[in-house]
Amino acid sequence: MSKPSDPDRPGRGHRAPRAEVVRELRRVNRALRVLGECNQALVRSAAEPALLADVCRILVEHGGYRMAWIGYAETEPEKVVRPMAKAGDDDGYLDGAHIGWADDERGHGPSGEAIRTGVAQVNRDFRSNPSMAPWRAEALRRGFESSVAIPFGGDEAPRGVLCVYAAEPDAFDVAELHLLEELAFDVAFGIATLRSREAHRRAEAMVARLAYFDTLTGLANRTQLLERIARAIGEARRTGGCLAMLTLNVNRFDDIQVGLGMREGDDVLRQLAARLAAALGEGEFLARIGGDVFGVLVEGGEADCARATAERLHAALAEPFRAAGILLDVQARIGAALYPDHGADGEALLLRSNIACREARHSSLGLAVYSGATDEENPRRLALIGELRRAIADGELALHYQPKVALRTGRVVGVEALVRWRHPVHGLVAPAEFIPAAERTGLIKPLTARVLDTALEQSRRWAERGIESRVAINISPSSLRDPEFPARVAEALRKRGSGPGRLTFELTESTLVEDPARSLEALTRLRELGIAICIDDFGTGYSSLSYIATLPIQGLKIDRSFVAGMLANASVRSVVEATISLARALQIRVVAEGVETIEQRHALERLGCDEIQGYLVGVPMAAEDLERWVLERSARAAEASGED
Ligand code: C2E
Ligand code: MG
Ligand code: MG
Repeated sequence: MSKPSDPDRPGRGHRAPRAEVVRELRRVNRALRVLGECNQALVRSAAEPALLADVCRILVEHGGYRMAWIGYAETEPEKVVRPMAKAGDDDGYLDGAHIGWADDERGHGPSGEAIRTGVAQVNRDFRSNPSMAPWRAEALRRGFESSVAIPFGGDEAPRGVLCVYAAEPDAFDVAELHLLEELAFDVAFGIATLRSREAHRRAEAMVARLAYFDTLTGLANRTQLLERIARAIGEARRTGGCLAMLTLNVNRFDDIQVGLGMREGDDVLRQLAARLAAALGEGEFLARIGGDVFGVLVEGGEADCARATAERLHAALAEPFRAAGILLDVQARIGAALYPDHGADGEALLLRSNIACREARHSSLGLAVYSGATDEENPRRLALIGELRRAIADGELALHYQPKVALRTGRVVGVEALVRWRHPVHGLVAPAEFIPAAERTGLIKPLTARVLDTALEQSRRWAERGIESRVAINISPSSLRDPEFPARVAEALRKRGSGPGRLTFELTESTLVEDPARSLEALTRLRELGIAICIDDFGTGYSSLSYIATLPIQGLKIDRSFVAGMLANASVRSVVEATISLARALQIRVVAEGVETIEQRHALERLGCDEIQGYLVGVPMAAEDLERWVLERSARAAEASGED
C-alpha cells in the first residue's frame, strides 16, 4: 500500500488528479483484500499463535508492507511488550529491542505509547521523526521508512499492539489507518473467541471428567465402569469369551469413618484406591462405585480368574494402613459375578456381584462367587420391594399380636406386635420377606411409624375394654441409629395421648452391639420416655455380659433357637441357664420365645424363667382374635382357677 489520498486532509479536494485516483483505488482494493484474507484467517485459525502469524503474513504478502509484528503487553514481572508473531524483513530487528510500555524511557517508543495511551501511533518518517532516533539506523538498514503501532485488546482479549512497517515514508493515511485499526480490532476479537472457545473446551473436558471419574480417588466411576462392561460384553459376545465382575466392600468402614473422622476416612479410601490400582493385572479395570465399594472388571475372566484377582486384591490390603497417625487393619469382602453365566448386562452383573459380596461376609476367604442361591433375588421378593412404599401408605400392613404369659401366674402379661402385609394378590406376607428390604431402602422409617401408631391405638382400645397388657414392638437397627427416633416416639405418644407405661421396645442383641456408644445414648433417651427395653433374640449377638450390664434394659428374650435346642443339648441348656441367672443378677425379667412344647415349658419353669411366648401358648393373632382369646382364657381360668 503506498501513500493514499486523504479525504480528511485539508487542502485536498474531490478533484484529485486521475493517476492519483487510480493509485488510491488500487490501494483501497489491496487494503480490502488484506482485511478479507485476515477475516478468513480469523475464521480458520484453531489456535492463537497460528492466527497471529497468519495476520502478520497476510499484511506482508497481500498488503505489501515490509514487516509486521504483533506483541502482547505483559504486566508481570514488569511492563514489557512481548513479540508474539512477525512476518517480513525483520532480520533480527525485534531481537535486541527491549520494548516496554511503562511510563519510562523504554516505554516511550511507538508500541509502548500505543498500548499505554490506547491511541494508534503513526510514525510518518523514520528519517525526520525525532522520537524515532533510537531505532532510526536499524530501521533504515532494513528499508523501513514509516510505521504505525495500533493498540488492541482490553476486556476479553489480551492488551497488545499491531506494528506495521512500510517501505515508503508517510505510508499511512487516515483511511488506511482506519482499516488497520479495524484489523487490530478483529484480531483482538479473534483471540478472545479462541480463548473463550478454549475455556469452553476445558470446561467441557472437566464436565466429562466429572461425569466419568470419581473426584475423591480419581478412579473411574460407576458410569464409566458400566460403559466398560458394555464394551467388554460386546467384545465377549463376538468372540464367545467371558468376563468377571468383582465387587469389593470394605469391612466396617463406618467404624473407621466414625472413629477417625470423615477426612481420615477419605484418606483411607484414597490409599485403598491406590493399592487396588497397583494390584491390577492385564485386562483389569478398577472403579469406585459407591462410598466404600469398588468394582473390578476382569476381561476374559472365569471363576478361577476372578478368584486369583480377588486374592491379589486381598493381598494388597494385607499391610496396615496409616491414617491419623495410627496403623489400621483394613479388610474387605469380595463378591464375583460372571458373564455370561450370571447376567447379560452391566447392571445385572453389578447387582449379582454385590449380592455375592454380601454372602462373602460369611466366608473365611472373604470371597464369594455368585451362586444364584440367595432368595434375595427371588422375582416375587423384588416385586414386593417395589410395592412396599405404596403398601405402607395404603395401610396394607397390619399387626398380629402374640401373647406372652407369666409362668408363675399363667396370666397374659403382654403381647408382641408382629407386622404382616395383607397383600392383595399374595395374601399374608411374613415380615422376613420385606423387613430386610425395608431396612435397606429406608422404608423402615414410615413402617415403624405405622406399627407404633397402630400398636398404641390398639393398646388404648384394649385398655378401654379392661384388657391391660403391655404391647411390645420390634425396633430395627436403623431406627436406633436415627437420632430423631426418640423424638418421633415421644410425638407419637403425645398424639395418641397414651402414656408409655404399656409400651416395650424389642431390640435384637446384634443391633445393640453394632454401635455400643450410640445404642446406649438412644436407649437412655427412650428409657427417659418411660418405655421398657427388652433385648430380643438374646444369645445370638455375642455381646459381653459386662456390656449388657451397662444398658438401661428391663428384659432379656432368649432366642427361640436356644429354646428349641435346650432339651436335647446340654450346652444349649447351659446358655439358657446362664441367661436366666444374668437376668436375675441384673434384676430384669427374662422371656423365652418360641416355646412349642409342654416339656420346654416345664424346663423353663424349673430354671426360673419369668415369661414364655410361643405356639404352645398362642400364635400371633389379629387384634379381634387376640381379644376373644384373652377373654375366653380368663373365663376358663376363673372356672378352673389355677389351671395354667
Ligand atoms: P422376633 O421379634 O423374634 O419375633 C418372633 C418370631 O417368632 C415371629 O415371627 C413369631 O411369629 C415367631 N414365633 C412365635 N412363636 C413361635 C414358636 O413357637 N415357634 C416358632 N418357630 N416361631 C415362633 P415373625 O412374625 O415372622 O417375625 C419375624 C421377625 O420379624 C421378628 O422376629 C422381628 O424381628 C421381625 N419383625 C416382625 N414385626 C416387625 C416390626 O413391626 N418391625 C420390625 N422392625 N421387625 C419386625
Ligand atoms: Mg421380637
Ligand atoms: Mg425374637
